[in-house]
Amino acid sequence: MGVGRRAEHLGCGQPEGRRDPGGRATGPSRHDERGRGSRRVPDPSGATPVIDRFEIVVIGGGAVGASIQWHLAAAGRTDSVLIEKHELTAGSTWHAAGNVPTFSNSWLGQRAGNYAWETYSKLADDPDDPITYRHTRAFWPGHTPERIDHFHHLVAIATGLGFDLEIVSPAEMEAMHPYWSDDGTVIAGLLDPYEGDIDPSGLTQSLARRSRSMGAEVRRHSRVVDIDRLEGTDARWRVHVESNGEIYAIDCDIVVNAAGFYGAEISAMAGIGAPLAVLEHQYLVTGAVPELVENTEIFPLVRDPEIMFYLRRENDRLLFGNYGHEGRTVWENGAPDIFDASLFAPDDEGIAEIAELAMAHVPLLGEVGIAEFVNGPITYTPDMNPLIGPAAGVEGFYQAVGVQIGITHAAAAGKVLTEMITGGDTEWDVWPWDPRRFGDWALAGSGRDSYTNTRVREMYEHQYGAPFPHRMWTSARPVQQTALYDTLAAKGARFGQIAGWERAFWFGSDEYSHDTLSYRDEHWHDAVAEECRAVRDAVGVMDHGGFTRYEISGPGAADFLDRVICTRLPGAGRVRLSYLLRPNGTVWSEATIGRIADDHFLWLGPTAARERDFDWLQQHLPDDGSVELRLGTERTSTLMVMGPNSRALLSRLTDADLSASAAPWMSLREIEIAGVMATALRVSFVGELGWELHVDDADLIELYEALWSVGADLGLRDFGSYALNSMRVEKGYHGWGSEFGVEYTPFDVGLDRFLDLDKPDFIGRDAVRAMADQPPGWSFGVWTIDPSSMPGPVGDPPPSAPIRVHGEAVGFVTSAATGFRTGERVCLGYVEGRHAGTTEGFTIDGYGADLPAVRHAHGIYDPHHERPRH
Ligand SMILES: Cc1cc2nc3c(=O)[nH]c(=O)nc-3n(C[C@H](O)[C@H](O)[C@H](O)COP(=O)(O)OP(=O)(O)OC[C@H]3O[C@@H](n4cnc5c(N)ncnc54)[C@H](O)[C@@H]3O)c2cc1C
Repeated sequence: MGVGRRAEHLGCGQPEGRRDPGGRATGPSRHDERGRGSRRVPDPSGATPVIDRFEIVVIGGGAVGASIQWHLAAAGRTDSVLIEKHELTAGSTWHAAGNVPTFSNSWLGQRAGNYAWETYSKLADDPDDPITYRHTRAFWPGHTPERIDHFHHLVAIATGLGFDLEIVSPAEMEAMHPYWSDDGTVIAGLLDPYEGDIDPSGLTQSLARRSRSMGAEVRRHSRVVDIDRLEGTDARWRVHVESNGEIYAIDCDIVVNAAGFYGAEISAMAGIGAPLAVLEHQYLVTGAVPELVENTEIFPLVRDPEIMFYLRRENDRLLFGNYGHEGRTVWENGAPDIFDASLFAPDDEGIAEIAELAMAHVPLLGEVGIAEFVNGPITYTPDMNPLIGPAAGVEGFYQAVGVQIGITHAAAAGKVLTEMITGGDTEWDVWPWDPRRFGDWALAGSGRDSYTNTRVREMYEHQYGAPFPHRMWTSARPVQQTALYDTLAAKGARFGQIAGWERAFWFGSDEYSHDTLSYRDEHWHDAVAEECRAVRDAVGVMDHGGFTRYEISGPGAADFLDRVICTRLPGAGRVRLSYLLRPNGTVWSEATIGRIADDHFLWLGPTAARERDFDWLQQHLPDDGSVELRLGTERTSTLMVMGPNSRALLSRLTDADLSASAAPWMSLREIEIAGVMATALRVSFVGELGWELHVDDADLIELYEALWSVGADLGLRDFGSYALNSMRVEKGYHGWGSEFGVEYTPFDVGLDRFLDLDKPDFIGRDAVRAMADQPPGWSFGVWTIDPSSMPGPVGDPPPSAPIRVHGEAVGFVTSAATGFRTGERVCLGYVEGRHAGTTEGFTIDGYGADLPAVRHAHGIYDPHHERPRH
């Protein structure tokens, strides 16, 4: 491998500087595209010679930065400047293959693809400044039964979103493509009619031209060299820019980091960590195919997920890209200053083996030779989703980096950030892209062995792998674990990871392997069934590492919380499930709030929402100093002790009165147990009698061992996250992230009973009051299914599987699990509000099969919640 080879080619876009693909001159020289927003004012500190003032500074002139600036300008925010250190597109954009895949395994990805298709189609149809965007379609040959399951699921969810994906036969794929043929290994394929390809440079230049025409400014050959956070001035940020050997500063309210593979460096200038890794990624362009010189036939892109290649027409040649080899991270200690409009040396070995396999389907590949290798930098995050949204803990700094398919996702990045910057509320739930889903844990380690670099290499190797619901990543672990990690591992715990935290997912049966994944019931089912039955019939203990905990105290604490949540606050010594709304009345998050004293509260929130919800609370804190908000508490670990024998078990270790009258359901107390101080919450996410014991991590092993020293005859058993999930689904308990988020109103989710509309004020109050008389858009529900008509072995339908009424898709599954206490397969999900009262005719899609389903008014296990209240 070598860096720095400058590209000679490419038919698919070049860095700007001379002429763009439309033949227009690329604009005047540096600094002379000054827009309406610019006004130069002297720097009061005298540290830098000149200060400009803009509302928004976008750093990076690739597809993503250009799209953000254009979306902002189109929304009326033209007081922006885009700063690009070289020419527009000089990062990863100029050499991208330009494929615009529209479908994805996730709803957000699918919407982003759809939005790209709509946006780029409009730009292509603009007679005054058309971009080059061709619709080609794409098909995916499927070689394994698991892949066909996946295709069926994708067709089902796409249909729910109004996309027409279809399953096609090998013969149909052959008929669509002049060079692709089945070698007898293909079972069926997936046809995506929306896929296309675009000229990435043309797109970026066009977006920049449009922004400039609306008054925004673009400065090329201007490098951001530092960023300061300002206090006590009317601007929040000062961006230092070097241009022509001079440094000047721009003050602004909002910084958008769209610096591509320099995203981590730009973040660091602002004191912000960003878990980004850069990899080499490559495609090749073949020699000319003689019959394509004259022939303008458009044929579909082929994307083969098993051999891991994609192939499409590029003018009179073929463009062939691949994954399926070891991920090659580069610049593990930081990107070099100069890699503008550059490529890595070709990696013939990485591509040769895959190309060989691909020739079984496209023999022409072996005949036309290779004209060009394009091996460039691509940026990944540890979960392959981009970082788009606010950075944690600061105001006015937005990330738009780690955008792995950035030509495609540039459109959605522009839409989402513009909504955030202009209105505060996004149309889509963009939590999967929220930079705050990663805490400092994702920055663990350094260099090649850092968490991010290591994880990203593993993910790259499985790039086209089917997204099995129980896939786990095995590399770079553990990064966050409780004191019990080794103890549980010795007892056969099979760990998974949640927001970086190691949690036992199940105990005892076979270890996890990428090779045995399935959409049907997996090998751990029997082990999890035993754990659930032990919790139902005796008592189970679970180490629940990583609860989000905040402590809120002070004379203004109660008033503050009362305004932040839409529910009533609990009384002292009590606990209440609480919900937070956005100003528009949709659900922001949830928390279990315990009131330790009148002015002292414990906040327990979703593990993954630690940074995001803390930001939310901080943004709404009163500025009179009456509230102290603390991230974390003294008690850092949690043991859940659940089951009908839990009281008997705990009573053997404490003198505290644990009777229902002294320690009632939804109460909280400080108790000493086995010599350890614990905040004991009488709550249960599994629907059994039980306690959550919050203790110091240093006391965790002692407490756990004490439980085991007296618990054997009471039937004590360890249980893990899979059992927890199975039991909460049986109970019909919904959760933030899986069942609800910012696209749902409390009425959609069935949270009406938690709303306290009599409170004089809370965030979102006016909006929900206005909604109260309207029919809800969605109706949350619980279904049981009969999977016996599923082809092959049975399994639980995956999230997003459509729910149908008399064959019409009217909703979707959010969570599904086998309920081992009841023996039922249970799905949670939504149907359209007009079906809130529908009681029959339901089916749920199980990988292409319409499974009969019965809707229930409540969770199916102990529907009147008698068991936890004893
Ligand atoms: C071989 C290959 C093929 C690909 N094919 C596809 C594809 O088919 N479809 C697809 O959607 N994606 C594809 N990608 C990914 C795509 O190229 C990127 O996701 C996309 O270009 C990212 O755009 P961006 O604007 O985020 O970053 P970039 O294009 O890298 O832009 C960032 C810009 O920031 C500028 N910058 C950096 N630091 C500073 C600074 N200090 N001051 C000022 N400016 C700065 C850089 O000069 C650069 O121009 C491919 C990638 C590779 C490597």
